[in-house]
Amino acid sequence: MKILVINCGSSSIKYQLISIDGKYDLLAKGLIQRIGESGASISHTASGKDKVVLSMAIPDHEAAMMAMTEALTNAEYGVISSTDEIDGVGHRVVHGGEKFKASTLINDDVLKAIEENSTLAPLHNPPNITGIEVCRKLMPDTPNVAVFDTAIHQTMPKYAYLYALPMELYEKHGVRKYGFHGTSHGYVAKKAAKIMDKPFDELKIVTCHLGNGGSLAAFDCGKVVETSMGLTPLEGVVMGSRCGDLDPAIVLYMMETLNLSLQETNDLLNKKSGLLGICGMNDMRDIKTEADKGNENAKLAIDMFCFRVIKYIGAYASVMNGVDGIVFTAGIGENSHWLREKVLDKFKYLGAAVDRERNENNETVITTNDSKVVGLMIHTNEELVIAQDTYQLVK
Ligand code: ADP
Repeated sequence: MKILVINCGSSSIKYQLISIDGKYDLLAKGLIQRIGESGASISHTASGKDKVVLSMAIPDHEAAMMAMTEALTNAEYGVISSTDEIDGVGHRVVHGGEKFKASTLINDDVLKAIEENSTLAPLHNPPNITGIEVCRKLMPDTPNVAVFDTAIHQTMPKYAYLYALPMELYEKHGVRKYGFHGTSHGYVAKKAAKIMDKPFDELKIVTCHLGNGGSLAAFDCGKVVETSMGLTPLEGVVMGSRCGDLDPAIVLYMMETLNLSLQETNDLLNKKSGLLGICGMNDMRDIKTEADKGNENAKLAIDMFCFRVIKYIGAYASVMNGVDGIVFTAGIGENSHWLREKVLDKFKYLGAAVDRERNENNETVITTNDSKVVGLMIHTNEELVIAQDTYQLVK
């Protein structure tokens, strides 16, 4: 069976075509950028072949999807002869609200419910919906599946997901913690259990998804009991350009004293804060290079980043009454061994013993064999989860 995985943003589309009969094979992947802008392009790589980059006018998402299907069926670098070979399309949908606790086949009612959640994710859900609508139009006989970033976190208890605000805000307006990066957290947590060779539902695992955006999740006996992102992906740890946790009064104070508009405040919190706000850089590789050269703000940004991650892991170990495994994933989690060491070393008191050599070699298990808490580095694969869920629902 061939599954097309779509991650549709406001001006970009990432896609992968995956064959998933028994085993998983990536047939092709690509990125369409600057949709509706000048300088639009599609970069497409068929497995085993060189990447092809084509610049062309791509006025809207429909044109983008047509460029993608043309690349997938191209005589030279295509991998299928027609889109009829695609058995299902899996869409990443950021916000599933409270309604969606698992991936689901898309019909008109599901699409309407995703639309209703757009108020909670105004930057993400509308382009996700556009992607679905265009696929339904271009491939009317192919089933579409929505895979939600929020779904796996729906197991959180009410005392964890509610904010201490007037109840009405939750009941009438859905103001609560939802959590994000769910496909990634679920994938690496289950994989960690396999590597630890124990049943997933008997383990206490903390997953740290540390990329440009970052979040942690606590899996107690196979279920998420707490996660660091909230109503939106702004809450939690320090991120590339997002502030993470704040005293909410700071927002009011800034708006009043700096006379900031709603949009300016939103930009400040989402795009100008985090690592970028502290040291002027948001790429952890650059920050580490500068810190090693003695740049004080780069060192501070790293310390703040690690401090917040350590606080969350400690809190999660407390709410779960222990922790068996701590998993690092995504761009920073998978690549920065020095950061993993800095974080894990704070959990010596719980029995975590980093194996420096394993960690520096980016091995999967990065703690010693007799470490009470197992530290792991696991490459995330959100596209694989989306393809697997789609396969299960359309087969
Ligand atoms: P997202 O998917 O959220 O955009 P990624 O998971 O790709 O982000 O992570 C991006 C982050 O990962 C950046 O801060 C980048 O510096 C960091 N990163 C990527 N590769 C490396 C590397 N080899 N060493 C250290 N950090 C890396």
